[in-house]
Amino acid sequence: MNNKNSPPLLSVDEALDHLLHAAQQVQAIEDALTMDALGRVLATSLISPIAVPPYDNSAMDGYAVRAAELHPKEMTRLQVSQRIPAGTMGTPLAQQTAARIFTGAPIPAGADAVVMQEDTRQTDDIVAITRAVSAGTNIRLAGEDIAAGATILQGGTRLGPQHIGLAASVGMARVPVYRKLRIATFFTGDELVMPGEALAPGQIYNSNRFTLNSLLRSLGFVPIDLGTVPDSLEATVAVLKQAAQEADVIITSGGVSVGEEDYVKAAVEQIGSIDMWRIAMKPGKPLAFGQIENAAFIGLPGNPVSVFVTFCLFARPFLLRTQGVMNVTPRSFWVEANFDWLKPDRRREYLRARLEPGMDGVSRASLFPHQGSGVLTSTVWGDGLINCPAGTPIKRGERVRFIPFSDLLAWH
Ligand code: AMP
Ligand code: MG
Repeated sequence: MNNKNSPPLLSVDEALDHLLHAAQQVQAIEDALTMDALGRVLATSLISPIAVPPYDNSAMDGYAVRAAELHPKEMTRLQVSQRIPAGTMGTPLAQQTAARIFTGAPIPAGADAVVMQEDTRQTDDIVAITRAVSAGTNIRLAGEDIAAGATILQGGTRLGPQHIGLAASVGMARVPVYRKLRIATFFTGDELVMPGEALAPGQIYNSNRFTLNSLLRSLGFVPIDLGTVPDSLEATVAVLKQAAQEADVIITSGGVSVGEEDYVKAAVEQIGSIDMWRIAMKPGKPLAFGQIENAAFIGLPGNPVSVFVTFCLFARPFLLRTQGVMNVTPRSFWVEANFDWLKPDRRREYLRARLEPGMDGVSRASLFPHQGSGVLTSTVWGDGLINCPAGTPIKRGERVRFIPFSDLLAWH
């Protein structure tokens, strides 16, 4: 298979390895408002300056007591000596009294348990406690979530809503994040027209422009969309020059096959360097990776499903790593095949599949019937990819590896 004209066939893992090693992480760090930091990548680990909770507090609305003063079998009557709503500090609890207390309020000195309201009856300033509790009941201890000085988030974490909330819970109004990656996109092909225009014979809609820019947005990037570019060397060189000025990474679709209407390779070579990879996978064999001045270049194939799949498997981890994210590997799960795949390709295949939980609790994957690399409906019908090893037939009931789209396209 390997001759002078065809570049070497890389395995999926080799190609990914090359990309992740080549990724030059953004270095510049800026302070972002915690409130605006969704999707940003933490540049340093965050250390909590405080304990959370900062003080022992009540987990319930009820009465703070000394547990030893409660009768184990009978009702206990105690005088209610104070009232402690959240946001106020009580005073030390006098012997043989209880403090009316509310969720989140500090436990007064001397008290060691909270009896929940449902197990009490208050008349005037006497509370009757119908059920004894042991010391520690219904008390959230200072520092039980976070100790002062503890690392709460590691550098290289992409901030989701829960990370933002955690940073806020220790009082951080700003967080250090990497500067946002600038990503330029363009789309080659004389046959492409924009949705909203009428199709002339021989034309198709430029769906990749919508898919790719949206894939980038779903990861929190803001693409610089340079639009459709004609199949000519001059036009391709010109847009590449502009992209290299404006972006850290350039991503394109189409024009990386070996036909004479494919100008991307020649254009990148004229002003930078490029490796053409043939990856042992289906869909999406050709992938170009190069460099133009300070910008990395990724040339995705033209076929719409190949764009989607090669983006998810290669561009996504490369971009996230370049942005400083440590964990770029999507999760995958063993599920049961609800199909026969008896004529496997010699390349690894990523089949569009839908996961359905059975009545027996086992998740089974069904295949979209048409797995062609131009059949975009497969990506909508499916909710993930099945990773089919090269040359390995699959029979119904066997285990297959499933990567959910939710892990490829959203926060994790
Ligand atoms: P190419 O790699 O340029 O030869 O393109 C491979 C196939 O993908 C051809 O059928 C193209 O018409 C199609 N294609 C290329 N670019 C796009 C695009 N932006 N949107 C939809 N289809 C495309
Ligand atoms: Mg083309």
